[in-house]
Amino acid sequence: MSDLAQTGVYPASAEFVAKAHVDAKAYDEMYAASIKNPEAFWAEHGKRIDWIRPYTKVKNSTFDYGKVDIKWFEDGTLNVSANCIDRHVAARGNQTAIIFEPDDPLSHEAQHITYAQLLEQTSRMANVLKANGIGKGDRVVLYLPMIPEAAYAMLACARIGAIHSVVFAGFSPDALANRINDSEAKAVITADFAPRGGRKTPLKSNTDKALFDCSEKVKCFVVKHTGDQTTWIADRDVDMKAEMAAASPYCPYAEMNAEDPLFILYTSGSTGRPKGVVHTSGGYLVYASMTQQITFDYHDGDVFWCTADVGWVTGHSYIIYGPLANGATTVMFEGVPTYPDAGRFWAVCEKHKVNQFYTAPTAIRALMGQGPEWVEKYDLSSLKLLGSVGEPINPEAWNWYNTHVGKGKCPIVDTFWQTETGGHMLTPLPGAIPTKPGSATKPFFGVQPVILDPATAEIKSETATDGVLCIADSWPGQMRTLWGDHERFQEAYFAQYRGYYFTGDGCRRDEDGYYWITGRVDDVINVSGHRMGTAEVESALVAHEKVAEAAVVGYPHAIKGQGIYAYVTLMNDVEPSDALRKELVAWVRTEIGPIASPDLIQWAPGLPKTRSGKIMRRILRKIAENDYGALGDTSTLADPSVVDELIENRMNRA
Ligand code: ATP
Ligand code: MG
Repeated sequence: MSDLAQTGVYPASAEFVAKAHVDAKAYDEMYAASIKNPEAFWAEHGKRIDWIRPYTKVKNSTFDYGKVDIKWFEDGTLNVSANCIDRHVAARGNQTAIIFEPDDPLSHEAQHITYAQLLEQTSRMANVLKANGIGKGDRVVLYLPMIPEAAYAMLACARIGAIHSVVFAGFSPDALANRINDSEAKAVITADFAPRGGRKTPLKSNTDKALFDCSEKVKCFVVKHTGDQTTWIADRDVDMKAEMAAASPYCPYAEMNAEDPLFILYTSGSTGRPKGVVHTSGGYLVYASMTQQITFDYHDGDVFWCTADVGWVTGHSYIIYGPLANGATTVMFEGVPTYPDAGRFWAVCEKHKVNQFYTAPTAIRALMGQGPEWVEKYDLSSLKLLGSVGEPINPEAWNWYNTHVGKGKCPIVDTFWQTETGGHMLTPLPGAIPTKPGSATKPFFGVQPVILDPATAEIKSETATDGVLCIADSWPGQMRTLWGDHERFQEAYFAQYRGYYFTGDGCRRDEDGYYWITGRVDDVINVSGHRMGTAEVESALVAHEKVAEAAVVGYPHAIKGQGIYAYVTLMNDVEPSDALRKELVAWVRTEIGPIASPDLIQWAPGLPKTRSGKIMRRILRKIAENDYGALGDTSTLADPSVVDELIENRMNRA
């Protein structure tokens, strides 16, 4: 095992622990209670949100393949929008709910939207939707920039009981059309253009193209955001801002069942065709709000910034629903980390005095490559806690984040979860669980992780072990089905390991009971009989000072069974050479051991990533196998041209 994986244990400061919602003792007690009697635990914690008709039933679920069925709080009724807005207005109507930070800080001002204003804008939009025939159960696709209207739109749908499906504004017309059709949406809400990093994506014209392939009945609401000229189709297009201005400023909220769908969200597609994950209202909101408060140790008055896009589940749970259900102040950032320059994240933290900052390892690595001077320029003294999500964070990036951003005083919560899980599954609770760089540490309340032997499907009960990560029982934030395809839902998550929810991820548990995600099970390589997660080899490569990023896959090898194929992106100022190749092989040998030495290293100016910044290893695997004819679904790739370059210069031509 790599010693990189164990570079120490980092407890939070005594001062942090003293103020934390949950300390070590409370964690142990609450966790034990949540597993021993989930009914009683969640009956109590379900009360953190407001119910119109209180539930009398709490949990009703089975993971039995063939009859998987998941329900929480099933006889309760509520409205999610009312929970995120109305219930805060009396006490904190004038508190900022959303801080909107625009793409271009020079030409546009930040906006502070209070809870009272949020109620008015959401109501107006809800009234526009209603006036245009949208009601309970109808699907509405959102294809919007990261602007306040995206929040209003999600909350307006929730208010009237419509089901939203947010599509990331960077996606193509094709990807948009697929999602409109798959969800059989009645309407799309889009904008004229989406400014991002100083460039503008033509959302309206993309939507026009998408709608060519959809039913003629789909309505198109357009938020005039940049004000640039667009096409206009009279019977179909609706000027959202104009209609909002004319609409009534209050819209009553609909009474929804706890199990009515709140949203559909398509997964990022890094392992295959995107899946339409369905989340419902009650359990999801309880779980999103509880994890936002406890994982991030959010306190009243704090400013919380999750840098994700609302096109991802992270944006749903930790920009919108979790924080707003808790009456928090949440930052919505329209831009990118490197515009106008590589100091943007830190400039925004300073400007809005951000207290909790939550981002992805891919962003940290990119900024790390730009040098610490961009961070040092800003006053980051408001920061109390940092978070990471999306993939395993390599210790190199962890250390940089801890030292330069957190100044060694902010706990780092490495949160493992999925679109499917609704909220955090494995994560340090910062006042309770000392962190180890690269480990998502321990389960959140109610989560029962088990590690199974991938060959025998048996539970590996020793403390220190590894295998595939499954979850033994339901938790309130769990997805309920795949939209219109309950069978695929069972096949994808409950077929491989009967009786368990299968995450698709490999995992190791250490002698302290800490969990370490080792990467997708599909990504595990078997070299001469040794099973190895790709994450570990990648971590070692990235720890080399000349390497900016690395992706590792297996490929057929005559002697070893599988060989190790590494794609390596070098730091800006480094020239590739055969000498450097040898140096990297030697480096991995000493960091991990001879078994992990890469057999082939390909220089990769860019790696194929999803729009959410995840490396698509299945594509890299195909190229490494010299089988690049059918790459599968690539509709969610950020930059398809990267792939051609890699094929062109592939190392295995056997
Ligand atoms: P698809 O399911 O379509 O392939 P995806 O799995 O990339 O897409 P998400 O739900 O956004 O879509 O990502 C969840 C996955 O991200 C997890 O299964 C895991 O592989 C990875 N992941 C998320 N957070 C972490 C983390 N903190 N540590 C390690 N891996 C993580
Ligand atoms: Mg997945």
